[in-house]
Amino acid sequence: MHNALLQRAITICSQKKLRFTAIRQRVFLLMLEQKGAVSAYDLLEQLQKHDSGAKPPTIYRALEFLLEHHFIHRIESLNAYLKCEHFGCEHPMQLLICEQCKQVIELSDPVIDNAFSEQAEQSGFKITNKILEAHGICHNCLYNEPPL
Ligand SMILES: [Zn+2]
Ligand SMILES: [Zn+2]
Repeated sequence: MHNALLQRAITICSQKKLRFTAIRQRVFLLMLEQKGAVSAYDLLEQLQKHDSGAKPPTIYRALEFLLEHHFIHRIESLNAYLKCEHFGCEHPMQLLICEQCKQVIELSDPVIDNAFSEQAEQSGFKITNKILEAHGICHNCLYNEPPL
């Protein structure tokens, strides 16, 4: 399943003439394996299992590439990263972050997004960076069910 997603990413990158290097592909695959939010430091540790010479700039450069081309998202309030459910295209985003299990539910409701922008506009405010993140407890943790 991950290989199919990797193939899709490779196709998108070749269509856009982007350099999807081996290291970027490796970090992308690592991101696909994450269940929720992951920090750059945790990713680096995982990367070093394959490539013991990997250094922080390696991971940050790869993450920057994946962010820029909308394969992953940055979670500002956690200083962490999340694979994108929509993959390869820009979209409005609202995040629900579970404080217990780190699961993140990604919403992309254009109505919420537009309402927020309109309110800003009415206040004469020009938004340059919009972040909508909520913290709380997910359904699984709330009802104490073991995660799937
Ligand atoms: Zn997304
Ligand atoms: Zn949870």
